[in-house]
Amino acid sequence: MAKLALETGKSNKILRTESRTVSDFSDPDLRKLIAEMEETLRLTENAAGLAAPQVGKNLRLFVIIPELPAKGARLPDGQESAPGKKAPTVFINAEIVKKSQKELRLDEGCLSLPGLFGIVKRAKWVKVQAQDEFGKKFKLKAEGFLSQLIQHEIDHLNGKLYVDRAEKMFKIEDDEIKEL
Ligand SMILES: [Zn+2]
Repeated sequence: MAKLALETGKSNKILRTESRTVSDFSDPDLRKLIAEMEETLRLTENAAGLAAPQVGKNLRLFVIIPELPAKGARLPDGQESAPGKKAPTVFINAEIVKKSQKELRLDEGCLSLPGLFGIVKRAKWVKVQAQDEFGKKFKLKAEGFLSQLIQHEIDHLNGKLYVDRAEKMFKIEDDEIKEL
């Protein structure tokens, strides 16, 4: 399985298109896409999440690295997820159903905008409802980095990029950071 090519650029048409709902969970192409996205994420350095538009598909789907749900995810049974305990890494048709009033200013970057990062305000926690790769619904409360990541990935599905929300943007050039 190969690493998929990434869509890049602030004005990239696919990144700027609102993605459509996934409805056919028996589609073998969906399963293939998920496997390829997971592999691409695994092979990409410093990557925590990947949304389908970033690999050229306008579908409401994103994947996150398996290490993450262990930190800051709370499953509907109220138990905190822990290493070895299965928590979702595939989010299809994800929606934020509730979020904290409290926002945090956080550093944020994106694989589709290499060499840049910004300061973005994000809700401290979010409650998300989504479907897994088989269409089964689940709910999750996410805090910390996972909360930020889920908000970032859902933005991708709506044709938004973090630069739209950033209070400040920085460029990394020759190991130097410059404010834009
Ligand atoms: Zn991104």
